[in-house]
Amino acid sequence: MRRLEEAAREASTCTRCRLAQGRTQVVYGVGSPDADLMFIGEGPGFHEDKQGEPFVGAAGQLLTRLLGEIGLRRDDVYICNVIKCRPPGNRDPLPEEIEACSPWLQEQMELVGPRLIVTLGNFATRVVLDRPVSISRVRGQRFSVSGRAVIPTFHPAAVLHGGGEASRQMESLRADFVAIREVLDEPLVLPEAAEEQSTLF
Ligand code: URA
Repeated sequence: MRRLEEAAREASTCTRCRLAQGRTQVVYGVGSPDADLMFIGEGPGFHEDKQGEPFVGAAGQLLTRLLGEIGLRRDDVYICNVIKCRPPGNRDPLPEEIEACSPWLQEQMELVGPRLIVTLGNFATRVVLDRPVSISRVRGQRFSVSGRAVIPTFHPAAVLHGGGEASRQMESLRADFVAIREVLDEPLVLPEAAEEQSTLF
């Protein structure tokens, strides 16, 4: 299997969709290449496009703060987006852009191989769960996708725009981060041990 660095290098010259024309650079992802925890957002905004790193603007600062509250630094996790290039004027990604970019994300999930994927907001949640769900209905629940745990939660930008610090949404976001910590603290069940366990019942 090739390494994440190699995949990122290849992605940096991607022209699979029109977004290649307007971007400053491809924003592939950042963090530990073998992280237990992976965050997936929507797509790069203005600051991310300029700096080449996901979640560096206001939403990113909130994400970094919430990570700190559960004892994690950005370097401990892996952070990326569904689409790797900034859509003009920060518009929503188009279905064909999501589809063109999806092999990069699929490969990224396999290469990092996290125990837990946290999807931020509607877009990432729908792409990863492959279902047209609504984030307000599924947030905080635990799903399994290809044997990996997935917890959807609100997008930090949506929380900042929708009430901020004292809002119900922020309360939910914080509760979901506590759930994330709990999953990471669960003992790792190795495949052989899981088999033994299942034969016990
Ligand atoms: N919003 C996202 O979804 N991703 C980023 O990288 C920044 C803001």
